Amino acid sequence: MKDRIECPFGEGEAVLKKEPRSLSYRKYEFTVIAHYYKCEDCGEEFTTNEADHITLIQVHNQYRERNGIPFVEEIRDIREKYGLSASKMSEVLRLGENGYGNYEKGEIPTPAIGALIKTAERPENFLSLLKSHNLIKNDKAIIKAISHVEHMIREERDNPDHFNISVNFGIPNNFTGYSMLNRSKIKHLLIHYIHECKDEYNDKLKLIKLLFFTDFSHYRNFGHSVSGLSYQKKNFGPMPYCFDTILNYFEQQDIIYQDWEILVDGKAREIIRTHRNIKTNEVFNEEEKSTIDLVTGYYKNSPTEDLVKKSTELNLKSSNDTENDLIGFQENAFA
Ligand SMILES: [Zn+2]
Repeated sequence: MKDRIECPFGEGEAVLKKEPRSLSYRKYEFTVIAHYYKCEDCGEEFTTNEADHITLIQVHNQYRERNGIPFVEEIRDIREKYGLSASKMSEVLRLGENGYGNYEKGEIPTPAIGALIKTAERPENFLSLLKSHNLIKNDKAIIKAISHVEHMIREERDNPDHFNISVNFGIPNNFTGYSMLNRSKIKHLLIHYIHECKDEYNDKLKLIKLLFFTDFSHYRNFGHSVSGLSYQKKNFGPMPYCFDTILNYFEQQDIIYQDWEILVDGKAREIIRTHRNIKTNEVFNEEEKSTIDLVTGYYKNSPTEDLVKKSTELNLKSSNDTENDLIGFQENAFA
């Protein structure tokens, strides 16, 4: 978002202002950082679509979090997991023709419907919803879905998932930047930054910082993080929660490998490398790409210590202000 724009009411220039404000939404009050412009010349205050969006998304994020309503990505992922169209999904959940599709487009479900969608996330629950719908029992898509879900239940029982590295198992909240933990995006962020940074400016700590700046800048501009990672407070600035578990996971998948370099003074630095190629076009949307380009351009040739300094200077707030605390996005990203 631009810090200064032309005033639409005259010849002056307007400056972006951010201030805490209380907004009500569906009977609840939420504190947000309101974004608006104020003209230096005529004093007129106004907003733009972009400024309104970042103000409102903070309300919507908090409303969903408070009421346990799934976020857009979760809603889409649940449907995609079962391989059904949005209209079939609406039928199974009895939501009316366009219900599910509208929720995927951003319409916010009521808490009751939110709870129903969450319930459908567990294959066991979804299976009973599928089987209990008499009208659609003979529907081809439903028959296919039933056998798919039954297969899924067997698979999950035989291969439990070992990648639960985020708080609340990847459910979007203030500590994930209201995004779901996304393995594919984390993987492609790692590959992208390993390729983009010159070798002498590339080490494990630098990657940690680049992930952090990507998520926080994206939240600052769009109200969501990119990766869904949570960040802990450390004396060297924020670091993704369970970062070594993440790296080990991708090392086992043959995505990255960890390496050491002995320096001329006899010290060593830890470097993460990859054989994989960059495919950011396939996984990131246009907004995410713009954030990644910005962070890349800004930091790829910066030494790690500059990024560490920059991240510690942010003075990020956490609940107890102690080492290892998780850092909330909402109270920190707009400062
Ligand atoms: Zn003006």
